[in-house]
Parts: sequence; structure tokens; C-alpha cells
Amino acid sequence: MKLKKGDEVIITSGKDKGKKGKIEKVFRKSNTVLLPGLNVFKRHMKKRDENNPGGIIDFPRPVKVANVALICPKCGKPTRIGYKVQGDTKSRICRKCDSIL
Ligand SMILES: [Zn+2]
Repeated sequence: MKLKKGDEVIITSGKDKGKKGKIEKVFRKSNTVLLPGLNVFKRHMKKRDENNPGGIIDFPRPVKVANVALICPKCGKPTRIGYKVQGDTKSRICRKCDSIL
């Protein structure tokens, strides 16, 4: 998993292809990330009580990491992440402009 919370990404496949969002949560086990407001599906809920009136609710589903690309904050382009090791520290770098992410 190269992505982390707070990264800005663009969706590269699926119904929200081309849309951008900021990672809210990373699910390492399933290799997915949650992007608020993106990959939203409608879910029909039954009325339970006065506090849960039911109806159609928006339900964001996590997006597979393979279907997103990181947007480099420096060059503003979708990019692949590379790594640079200097001594004991490993930094993520943008493969396009080589800046540390
Ligand atoms: Zn860059």
C-alpha cells in the first residue's frame, strides 16, 4: 500500500473515472481507499422508527487502489509513486518530477 490518508487521488476506472478526491481512510487488508463523495451508491433503507425514516441514502464504497492514481501536489499530475532511500529514511517520490511526497 503506497497511498495514505490525506493523499489526493484521481479515479482511473469505473463510474467515477476522472473524478478527484482526498483519501479519508485506507483499508490495507482489502487494498482499498475511501474517498468521501466518490464511488457513491444509493441504498434503499426501510423505515425502522422515527429516528430512522428510511428512504434512499448515499453509501460511499471504498475504491480499489489499482483504480486510483496519486495526484502529485508539486506538479499537479496523476503520477506513480516511487521510493527513494536515504540512510534510514524511505521517502515517497513523484516519478514525474522527483519531488518528495
Ligand atoms: Zn510531481
